[in-house]
Amino acid sequence: MSKGIPEFIDLMRLANLGGHFQGAIKIAGMPRLSELLAENKGQIEIDVQFGINEQNRPYYKGSAHGQVLLPCQRCLEVIPEDIDVSFELLLAGSEYKYKQLAEENDVFLIDRVPASFFEIIEDELLLGFPEVYKHDESECSATEFMKDKLEVQMNEKETKKANPFDVLKDFKLDS
Ligand SMILES: [Zn+2]
Repeated sequence: MSKGIPEFIDLMRLANLGGHFQGAIKIAGMPRLSELLAENKGQIEIDVQFGINEQNRPYYKGSAHGQVLLPCQRCLEVIPEDIDVSFELLLAGSEYKYKQLAEENDVFLIDRVPASFFEIIEDELLLGFPEVYKHDESECSATEFMKDKLEVQMNEKETKKANPFDVLKDFKLDS
């Protein structure tokens, strides 16, 4: 329907109108997501449909996908990763309604009009965000570094073990 995705929307109104948005949101426009990334370049493609379902409940559903640049948790180099989430939520205009619906559905509580569309999408992306992101050990440039570090630690331990009498020698000299 619309090329530009509006940052703020009236959810109930869109549900009643059967609004539909297809387009892209810049990753830089989503600060909480950006914070987790190596770079906030690029954009997320979204497709979101609003409507009223058979039970006469307002809802929105859709998907969001795009490539993000993750910092490898071991070496911090950039890993391009595709994220792809889909969602379907009922709309609740009050906390009472929210509690009623939330037992069996994903529900969005409308606590502001208009609501931030970017934040809604950002929430979904954060929910679908990978918990672990690092290169395979064979590809990660931290692997060699870690190996070296481990070897040094091992050698230090062995050296300490090998000379237990050094301490004794000093003790004797002091007394
Ligand atoms: Zn790595």
